[in-house]
Amino acid sequence: MSNEIKVLKEGLFKEEDGKAVLLLGHCLVCGTAFFPERPFCSRCGSDQIEQVSVSDGKLYSWTTVIHPSQENKMALPYGMAKVDFPDHKIRITGVSTETDSEKLTRGQDMRVVVAKAYEDEDGKDVVTYMFQPVEEGK
Ligand SMILES: [Zn+2]
Repeated sequence: MSNEIKVLKEGLFKEEDGKAVLLLGHCLVCGTAFFPERPFCSRCGSDQIEQVSVSDGKLYSWTTVIHPSQENKMALPYGMAKVDFPDHKIRITGVSTETDSEKLTRGQDMRVVVAKAYEDEDGKDVVTYMFQPVEEGK
């Protein structure tokens, strides 16, 4: 990444084999997965945590945000989605690249991408992970 790009929050995602992945913690004791990754399991308190990555999930629910908020500087409207990753029994919330709710269907394939969220005061692109609908046949 060039230094003209800033990451909204470090440690949530990375590039792996040319695709974006989310970084999860997976407890080796009780099997719970959590996001973001933490040094201790949120369920059993174990510190036996391995990092796992996910990129393809299934859409659970979604909405379109049309009202501004102080926490989020993204241009309106923008989509938000909850995506299930069944292999790790985890549901993750994030921005959706699709702002038109009508175009989305429950259970459809969604993929993690890294995209520009907004431009900061210095004109730098601030990027974060987002969920993008997977086109049919790809
Ligand atoms: Zn655990």
